[in-house]
Amino acid sequence: MSTEEFDVIVLGGGPGGSTLASFVAMKGHRVLLLEEAKFPRHQIGESLLPATIHGVCAMLGLSQEIAEAGFPRKRGGTFRWGKSQEPWTFAFTKDPTDPFGYAYQVERDRFDEMLLRNAAKKGVDVREQHSVTELLHEDGRVVGVRFRDEAGIERTARAKFVGDSSGFRSRVSGLVGERVFSRFFQNVALYGYYEGAKRLPSPNEGNILCAAFRDGWFWYIPLSDTLTSVGAVVSREAAEAMKEGHEVALDKFIAACPIIADYLAPAQRVTTGKYGEIRVRKDYSYCNTRFWAPGVALVGDAACFIDPVFSSGVHLATYSALLAARSFNTRLRGELDDERVFQEYEQRYRREFGNFYQFLMAFYDMNQDTDSYFWSARKIVSTEERDNEAFIRLVAGRSQVDEPAFYEGAEFFDAREGFGRWMEQTLNPEAVRSANPRASQPPRRVAGGFDATDFMAGFTSEIAQLQAQARLGERRGAEAPLEHGGLVPSRDGLEWEVT
Ligand code: FAD
Repeated sequence: MSTEEFDVIVLGGGPGGSTLASFVAMKGHRVLLLEEAKFPRHQIGESLLPATIHGVCAMLGLSQEIAEAGFPRKRGGTFRWGKSQEPWTFAFTKDPTDPFGYAYQVERDRFDEMLLRNAAKKGVDVREQHSVTELLHEDGRVVGVRFRDEAGIERTARAKFVGDSSGFRSRVSGLVGERVFSRFFQNVALYGYYEGAKRLPSPNEGNILCAAFRDGWFWYIPLSDTLTSVGAVVSREAAEAMKEGHEVALDKFIAACPIIADYLAPAQRVTTGKYGEIRVRKDYSYCNTRFWAPGVALVGDAACFIDPVFSSGVHLATYSALLAARSFNTRLRGELDDERVFQEYEQRYRREFGNFYQFLMAFYDMNQDTDSYFWSARKIVSTEERDNEAFIRLVAGRSQVDEPAFYEGAEFFDAREGFGRWMEQTLNPEAVRSANPRASQPPRRVAGGFDATDFMAGFTSEIAQLQAQARLGERRGAEAPLEHGGLVPSRDGLEWEVT
């Protein structure tokens, strides 16, 4: 059997892979996408962020199809979290007329299939039930893949570049670098689906509800008027309860979380069909030491993953896919060199991952129930994560080069002491004021000296650029590089340029 030739081969047809393949094909390059499963296939991660919908999906030309799919609109998150016993709401925008101030809650089998079929429409050669078994190397560079087709026949294909977006089970990540785990965000998720559960009061009925309880926290995601995805995220120790069976364990966790028990009171668990199973996922958070090697780049979960409470997974997968596509497209145009374009890729993706990590650590720090094993062990600033130098260095990336404290685990955490209180004051000022009527506005810097306001501005600026790219295309304003001498996106957003 002859070996086929492509410009780029993409492993995996999840949101990361479909997005990467589409953006490369949109520049006229020949792309092969190999996906092990037959779509539609199950995946968790149903709650999306506006950057995915109004940024990447708009650039992919999918806005209308997604709008017509009937997915519930998500205006933000409602939380039973922190000091307040009452649920409080974080909205993506305060302006109810903002046309970009929402995302969707999606059934992932349908959403992922839309992205995959769209890739085929863009000219990608999409092959389902094709499993990649090995990378082909030549002179220290990845030059293609060995794969098994739907008939079980082994074949090879060659390409100038390979994108690995085969998710958390990636076998390529270990060839590119080493996967380093967070010691802190190591949880187990147990989830099922319910018909007829309650909805939050309007206008928040499409919001995700996240509720902290003694053993961890719950997600509660409306997937239609009647269907709800419900998952308990608990420690590995609490997951011992699963020995009694998944159903018993999930019922036990629900009974321990009053708001979720109340919302599920009128509901029946779905026991048949595609949502009939109670599933378990270990959402260990990790980051690879390298995101690329000659000829290959890791995209989405294959490179890194962080705790799901902020619904960041699909955003990180699709955003990193856009960044990687820029790097592939620039090299396929024959410009710059691998080191330059893939360093830019890695730096930007690592920065976005690191931003979510810091945001999450503050958010987790808001729950300080010392009677609870889960929460007392998750006062992150005083946990063993402090000594997890290897992971913290990866989270920090190089983008914070002007902030030396970032490199030392203990100093990193000392500087952020009080970030959880700052976050609570910012997100839920009412609760803080009712606990302490003399509480003032959150200061710019948290107690440890970390500049929280600057951090938040940096956190949102890249997302704003992404949405501007989708909305304004070539009319958007010029972008500044992340670092002096760094690259910026081309006018169409699909390649890198030197400033
Ligand atoms: P995937 O979606 O995993 O896609 C990888 C694809 O590669 C799969 O289709 C697989 O079949 C294929 N593949 C694997 N190996 C091979 C091979 N050898 N050859 C060919 N194909 C292969 N994210 C959110 O945005 N919102 C949420 O609310 C959310 N909740 C989550 C809750 C939990 C408990 C967990 C664990 C994650 C959650 N996530 C959430 C994260 C989200 O699921 C992932 O981040 C996202 O699916 C990553 O996309 P991806 O394309 O990188 O990988």
